[in-house]
Amino acid sequence: MENCIFCRIIAGEIPSGKVYEDDTIFAFKDIQPQAPIHILIIPKLHCSSVLDAEPVTVAHMISVANGLAKDMGLDDKGFRLVINTGKDGGQSVGHLHLHLLGGRSLQWPPG
Ligand code: 5GP
Ligand code: ZN
Repeated sequence: MENCIFCRIIAGEIPSGKVYEDDTIFAFKDIQPQAPIHILIIPKLHCSSVLDAEPVTVAHMISVANGLAKDMGLDDKGFRLVINTGKDGGQSVGHLHLHLLGGRSLQWPPG
C-alpha cells in the first residue's frame, strides 16, 4: 500500500535489518528496540491491524516468531510476543505487526 512505511520496507524502498523472509512474511529489527532483541514480524500483504487479519496469517506470524526466538536462544530464557491494536493499544504503524521481545527480564503489567 502506498505511503505505508512497512509496505515500503517490504518493497526494499526503506532499508531495514531483515532477519527473515518467506512468501508471505517479512521480519526485521525494530528501529527503536525496547529490549536487546526486538523484531517485528509482518505479513507481506498489507493488513491494517489484527482486527482485519486472517487467523491463518496470525498463526503463521506466531510460528515464525517462535522459530526466530529459538534461533536466538530465547526459548529457555523466555520472550514476549505483542500485537498492539488501535489507539489505546498503542499501535503507531497501521500495518499489522507482531513484536518479538527478549534478551532481558521484561516487566508486567505494561504502563
Ligand atoms: P507499534 O507502536 O505500532 O506497536 O509498533 C511500531 C514499531 O515500529 C515501533 O516499535 C517502532 O519503533 C517501529 N518502527 C517505526 N518505523 C520504523 C522503521 O522505519 N523501521 C523500523 N525498523 N522500525 C520502525
Ligand atoms: Zn502496509
